[in-house]
Amino acid sequence: MSKVIFHTDARPVDFIRAALPVAGEPLLDARRRPLHDLRISVTDRCNFRCTYCMPREIFGSNYQFMPHSDLLSFEEIVRVARVATGLGVKKIRLTGGEPLLRKNIETLIAMLVRLSTPDGQPLEVTLTTNGTLLAKKAQALKDAGLNRVTVSLDALDDRMFERMSDSRISVSTVLRGIDEAARVGLAPVKVNMVVRKGLNDGQILPMASRFRHSGHILRFIEFMDVGSTNGWNLQEVLSGTEILDRIGAAFPLEPVQAGYRGEVASRWRYADNAGEIGIITSVSQPFCGDCSRARLSPEGKLFLCLFASRGHDLRTLIRAGGSDADLAGLFAGIWSQRNDHYSEIRGRETAKQQKIEMSYIGG
Ligand code: SF4
Repeated sequence: MSKVIFHTDARPVDFIRAALPVAGEPLLDARRRPLHDLRISVTDRCNFRCTYCMPREIFGSNYQFMPHSDLLSFEEIVRVARVATGLGVKKIRLTGGEPLLRKNIETLIAMLVRLSTPDGQPLEVTLTTNGTLLAKKAQALKDAGLNRVTVSLDALDDRMFERMSDSRISVSTVLRGIDEAARVGLAPVKVNMVVRKGLNDGQILPMASRFRHSGHILRFIEFMDVGSTNGWNLQEVLSGTEILDRIGAAFPLEPVQAGYRGEVASRWRYADNAGEIGIITSVSQPFCGDCSRARLSPEGKLFLCLFASRGHDLRTLIRAGGSDADLAGLFAGIWSQRNDHYSEIRGRETAKQQKIEMSYIGG
């Protein structure tokens, strides 16, 4: 396989034959990490203004969100997904912004679940949401074929939740969404809590208590320096170990084996069989070594890391009439050159980088 450097005006033909992996072989990046997950951001809009992701002072009423015409259509998204499954993707996660704000998202889900991997396995299609629209949409998402949902919930206390999400939505709205998702079979529901030391860390034990014996999997996420607008500060990071110590002191825990290489959360179960939790430690224990995730932005750029500064344009090729083979070559070429490992090199130098916003590319 010859290395080809390209830019947004790449002419598809030259590129194709150089990059495709041997059939059945995983597509490896420059650190020999196989492509496994594709996270697709379907909108840069959200009805929350979480302070660690979309601070209102930046994303205020005058903020220019992407015009609809810039967004990839459902057909274009499915083309990229189909090509990606041919290159090894086994799992697709729909994100945003808030993906349930994208009109008729059920239609996209129904199109995606019809895809299968080269060995005929069904593609796993999941979605991450803030839960505000979930109670209303859960049945339709399930009927469309969605496998599971992950719901963000950073506190049980309404006032703290308002401070974290900078919204007037109540915790009960999100909890109703979680219950309805479980009722219709979008389970196990994963619940993600971002922990900001000195702000909502007092909610760790109430959240753990609330979801014990629920069948849902609560995951605690270290506060990350995503994007360039959330005022991140290492002093506000409560490490995964500290979070585990707090929970373990109240409810003894045992480690659980990872489900597959590249699984984001380290897994723990309650010793009294009250269920499972996860810890996501991008800051204190980076997991770049097994990172198998590519990210597609709403307007069709491929990003290779959550902390990337720039993406690779796929839309130009798609709208220029490139074939699936062209697209596969482009995608494979981009991935095969991937060398990202931001969390392993986080420090003074990386702090100066202008990074993409998580509200645009999804978590
Ligand atoms: S920092 Fe980038 S390379 Fe590392 S795990 Fe996160 S997304 Fe993957």
